[in-house]
Amino acid sequence: MADYIGAIDQGTTSTRAMVFDHDGSVVARHQVEHRQILPRAGWVEHDPDEILRNALLVAGEAFQGYQIRALGVANQRETTVVWDRRTGTPFGNAIVWQDTRTDRIAEALNRDGRGELIRHKSGLRPATYFSGGKLQWILEHVDGARDAAERGDALFGTIDTWLLWNLTGGRVHATDVTNASRTMLMDLETLDWDDELLACFGVPRAMLPRICPSSDPSSYGHTTEGIALTAALGDQHAATVGQVCFTPGEAKNTYGTGNFLLLNTGTEPVRSEHGLLTTVAYRFGSAPPVYALEGSIAVTGAAVQWLRDRLHIIGTAAECETLAARVPDNGGMYFVPAFSGLFAPYWRADARGAIVGMSQYDTDAHLARATLEAICYQSRDVVEAMQQDSGVTLDVLKVDGGVTANDLCMQLQADILGVPVSRPMVAETTALGAAYAAGLAAGYWNDTDELRANWHESHRWKPTWSPQQRAEGYQRWHDAVRRSLDWIEI
Ligand code: ADP
Repeated sequence: MADYIGAIDQGTTSTRAMVFDHDGSVVARHQVEHRQILPRAGWVEHDPDEILRNALLVAGEAFQGYQIRALGVANQRETTVVWDRRTGTPFGNAIVWQDTRTDRIAEALNRDGRGELIRHKSGLRPATYFSGGKLQWILEHVDGARDAAERGDALFGTIDTWLLWNLTGGRVHATDVTNASRTMLMDLETLDWDDELLACFGVPRAMLPRICPSSDPSSYGHTTEGIALTAALGDQHAATVGQVCFTPGEAKNTYGTGNFLLLNTGTEPVRSEHGLLTTVAYRFGSAPPVYALEGSIAVTGAAVQWLRDRLHIIGTAAECETLAARVPDNGGMYFVPAFSGLFAPYWRADARGAIVGMSQYDTDAHLARATLEAICYQSRDVVEAMQQDSGVTLDVLKVDGGVTANDLCMQLQADILGVPVSRPMVAETTALGAAYAAGLAAGYWNDTDELRANWHESHRWKPTWSPQQRAEGYQRWHDAVRRSLDWIEI
């Protein structure tokens, strides 16, 4: 009987499970959304138990009837959970990567010498985005958390760790090196938790998971149902694998809640001079780790959700495309959706959302169009930074993620960037990458050449704007960004 590889992709807005065959085609899938809990301005939480229930539900539905040789987990990164090892009960909700409650913690680190230490050792810059500050916040603000952590009863995990711990019935407390590289607590060179970094956030080592390769036959054990768990990796790293970016110089841009552009830089970490992060792309077994430069954008698809859930000018995310298509251009409107401050390449926690250039003539259709353009302009900002840092000039941009279903947005991306945009047949590259990593460890695929042969283009968008139109639009975008900066003092 044929066997298959399973993947769980626990994302920011939803959780999906998929089954892949040897060609890398999706043969079964199931997906459910979870609640976005917004208790105050700037706070974003998820219920860890709901996420676990959803993961079990979608896996149960998708995997039914298939013989699953191995299972890989990909997850929203940085989102932080602390739970009691004796009961499995979380100390409150997970603090999501978009949450900005730790802006003062990040600012304080940036002001003294510790910011430089963190940048050098972890490859990250102190920001609300990463787990270290979130963990510090929980230890300082949640009753009993610090005492339990000091006693060794409280465990820390990003969502991979939370799921692995539960899937294995509490037997495995582990994370993979890509997820660990998003905490500000791991040294990029040693690939181990670092005492100086732990001291910056007051984190006791006893609560931290074991750091393992992203793809490994023995690190993660088995689910309580007996399925081999052989891979874990952060969703963006998984998408890099799913897009088969195995050679230095290859890059992909994923369009989900936020956008994340990763460029494979090979087996040595490259330090950014232009506002990008240095991160571990993936590590397969005992092979040397492969590093990436990353441009992270907090709000892209999330701005479309905002039009849907808060402004109610669209009923579904897909309607954004039909609404935006009613007008031929943005009518002079530029929207900087800096809801979590601005991430790459600006890194300004004090930026706030701005809509500028409006006139009485403008409509909801112009706002929808400005929202799609904002996704593309933010991506251009990180592509420019990436080209400056690496000297690599993109001749095509490989894309994936939920927003890439929007053809108008992808056409705008080609127009705004001046480079063709290419979407693969399997747009679910995150789940695919988790499956590839799991299947490599299980011997289902022999090597990355086999995976590369599975990659096929489904669509390519070519630039149509004149160079002048492109330059003028980009200038206006930067005028708008300037207005979103320095809005408040933190
Ligand atoms: P994540 O893994 O971050 O949860 P997904 O890749 O599932 O993200 O993409 C979901 C995001 O894509 C949501 O923010 C949603 O608003 C956006 N989205 C989905 N479909 C469309 C569409 N047709 N046009 C624009 N945005 C879309």
